[in-house]
Amino acid sequence: MALGKLTLSDLNAAGKRVLVRCDFNVPLENGEITDSRRIEESLATIGHLIKQGAIVILASHLGRPKGIDNALTLEPVANRLSELLDQPVTLLPDCVGFEVEKAISKAQPGDVLLLENVRFHPEEEANDPAFAAKLAKLADVFVNDAFGTAHRAHASTEGVAHILPGYAGLLIEKELQHLGVVVTNPARPFVAIMGGSKVKDKIALIDNLLPKVDRLLIGGGMTYTFLKAQGKEIGKSILDSSSIEYAASLLKEYPEKILLPVDLVVSDAFSADANTMVVSVDDIPADQEGLDIGPASRVAFAEVIKSAQTVLWNGPVGVFELKPFEGGTRAVAEAMAECKGTTIVGGGDSAAAVEKFGLADKMSHVSTGGGASLEFLEGKVLPGIAALRDSE
Ligand code: AMP
Repeated sequence: MALGKLTLSDLNAAGKRVLVRCDFNVPLENGEITDSRRIEESLATIGHLIKQGAIVILASHLGRPKGIDNALTLEPVANRLSELLDQPVTLLPDCVGFEVEKAISKAQPGDVLLLENVRFHPEEEANDPAFAAKLAKLADVFVNDAFGTAHRAHASTEGVAHILPGYAGLLIEKELQHLGVVVTNPARPFVAIMGGSKVKDKIALIDNLLPKVDRLLIGGGMTYTFLKAQGKEIGKSILDSSSIEYAASLLKEYPEKILLPVDLVVSDAFSADANTMVVSVDDIPADQEGLDIGPASRVAFAEVIKSAQTVLWNGPVGVFELKPFEGGTRAVAEAMAECKGTTIVGGGDSAAAVEKFGLADKMSHVSTGGGASLEFLEGKVLPGIAALRDSE
């Protein structure tokens, strides 16, 4: 693969015990999975290994348990996975230890076993070598398919790959192919849309991408720091005062690349039944807060997006979780859906937005990793991938 790591096409898994790190960290409400996209995205790798006749041993974390926590058992994942694979998935009582080893020793090629939540052991996040060795003892080879956790050096994502030969799974391969094109060789025009609440969380991303993009569209809470840098009054809008100088320097260095909103939806309250009005960026009332981009900005953004060959989106352009402020984010998602070029949605909030608007299927790629896709696009090394075996 382009990133120089061994993949499933380098592995003959027949008869082997394969430990597969997945990202089954799915949202739960009253014990029910509310979005199983991450489970669905792992089916390609699991199906491939079943077909080859491997003994498939799946590992994942779920949530942030402090020790054993019955509310964060992987049982709902085992049930959902079993439905999707149409075969039994055996949930083991723990992720390491004698009972687990015994169950695996009885498994047959094609069987699927799921280890219990690896974060029930604090050694997981501590990347404890002895704990990684216990995990490694369960298998002959390791496959990492947990893109959403690849930016973490934990025992089951990184430690174990120093003991067992490690391969990239099909989801990691797909994520790296799509996100990799953006940072290495994007078709032009290449347009990035950035939103989210604060500039300072996106500085590394902006620094890595701004030299590469043809246009950068800025929306969301970040907007107001840029408007302030231009000397405008921003009323009660969110301001990241530590980043005003940084925003000013970007506007000076890249005046042609950066496109800011020209109008905004403002409100006197951050709520679903708030009174709203549309104002120019030059007329934000002192007692109002900007919470979405306005209609003229949506048209301008959509025009740039639709004529791009590559579009990358990271961060909502308004408070899309609340109905009165979702229109800008919806317009961005719709323009991307109409764009004929390659459209990539970074994980986290932007992925949640395209799901909410029912447009995920219209994108070239929606990343399953929030923090991981952000760090990859910032140009950082993801430890869970770095530890895998290099290809020739
Ligand atoms: P982040 O986690 O920094 O990517 O920010 C995502 C959040 O930014 C979302 O939950 C949005 O609701 C929020 N957001 C977008 N636009 C604004 C805005 N104008 N003011 C405050 N928050 C916003």
